[in-house]
Amino acid sequence: MSEKMLAFEKSKPGRRCTTFTTDERPDVPAELRRKTRPKLPELSELQLVRHYVGLSHLNFSIDTNFYPLGSCTMKYNPKVHEKAARVPQIAGLHPLESSNQQMLSMIWEMEQILKAVTGMDTFTFQPAAGAQGEFVGISLIAAYHRAQGNDKQVVLIPDSAHGTNPATAAMCGYRVEEIRSTERGTVDVDDLKSKMTDQVAGLMLTNPNTFGVFEDEILEIAEIVHDGGGLLYYDGANMNAFLGQCRPGAMGFDVVHINLHKTFTTPHGGGGPGSGPVGVKSILEPYLPTPIVRKIDERFVLDFDRPESIGKVSTFWGNFGMVVRAFVYAKMLGAEGMRRTSEMAVLNANYLTRKLEDVYDRPKKAQPMHEGVLSAAGQKKANGITALDIAKRLIDYGIHPPTIYFPLPKVCPEALLIEPTETESLEQMDEFVEAMRAIAKEADEQPELLKAAPHDTPVRRLDEATAARKPILRWQPE
Ligand SMILES: *Cc1c(COP(=O)(O)O)cnc(C)c1O
Repeated sequence: MSEKMLAFEKSKPGRRCTTFTTDERPDVPAELRRKTRPKLPELSELQLVRHYVGLSHLNFSIDTNFYPLGSCTMKYNPKVHEKAARVPQIAGLHPLESSNQQMLSMIWEMEQILKAVTGMDTFTFQPAAGAQGEFVGISLIAAYHRAQGNDKQVVLIPDSAHGTNPATAAMCGYRVEEIRSTERGTVDVDDLKSKMTDQVAGLMLTNPNTFGVFEDEILEIAEIVHDGGGLLYYDGANMNAFLGQCRPGAMGFDVVHINLHKTFTTPHGGGGPGSGPVGVKSILEPYLPTPIVRKIDERFVLDFDRPESIGKVSTFWGNFGMVVRAFVYAKMLGAEGMRRTSEMAVLNANYLTRKLEDVYDRPKKAQPMHEGVLSAAGQKKANGITALDIAKRLIDYGIHPPTIYFPLPKVCPEALLIEPTETESLEQMDEFVEAMRAIAKEADEQPELLKAAPHDTPVRRLDEATAARKPILRWQPE
């Protein structure tokens, strides 16, 4: 970093933001006054304002730039949702409030909406993230098999799956067996058949999968798993292609999780708070976490009396503020709006991938749904330019890079997973296409430009593994 970035580094003794001191407050008793001054940076008010506003400008967000991060659904978060979540009657609720009828009715109504969207029978809103929803969902499947007296050891997961899927299965004590993908990018049904033994507790599937491809053999897949005594888990983190179009419940899935913070516009990134509600068919309902919201006559209550429940998985009743935002979103869209949302999301993803497939490889030829995979394998072969170089160069164009190296290199070398979402305009799509085409040209003509990118950021290329594993969170004087 070239310029001084930290308030401590800008400090000069004696600079003050206000002239207000305890000396001017004779009403503050002497024994309550500080004897020593805390070692804080000493800056003028203007310097301080510039410091924080400057820092805020370093944030890259959906409110500032295009953010086509595949499998993350970085759609615009309408501000009216924030307003709703901040009304005092909602924001001021005590965390232990358990009988407030407005709060409970909103959770209950959101449950009815998610039931209609997914075709499931009951939901819990406790999980605070998609990954926690998965953990709950697979725990429910485990509880079901235990109750049947079955000792099953294996969870089947396709090779294209999100990393949280195998992590979840392993955390729940299962051994993971991988199912191959076909050339089209869908589950290899023959491979599934060969691995479907009586040891299999279930299959975890994402649909459209992380190649952005619809699993069109899902009915046969569901039959194979059910006939073999397993259950089907639907990773519904990204429901953007399905909204108002089709329902995982009708495809044979027994349990789903949904990311309100992806499909339903609650803001995300930076670690939360999120919300990963889990919906189940009635066979799994007894095991849902406590409490769940019930409507008895015209009153809403929290039901804690659930002897077969897997127990409580979060504090309080989940991240209620996220439910509020998602509820406002769903109500404002309505059924017709949801259909339009998914149509536009699929149209945008198809537009981008088709407009770029002559300059980048498109490894899976099946039609993309809400996101599409391109690959920099051609650029790598020709000029040694990788997906990482392209991603870093996009930052210079003011665009957040797509997801890279996912799907994993073993199934898709140099992957660029692009998800524009429905909230972007045609002009923005075209700007992205132009940037990606310009970068492909640079890869041919000035590869060193890409290798050194990004050029305009306060820090250039980071050692991301060390930054994640050994973060330096405290400023220390040199
Ligand atoms: C984002 C995502 C998850 C995990 O969701 P978190 O809220 O980040 O834990 C799981 N599966 C898929 C396919 C995802 O895209």
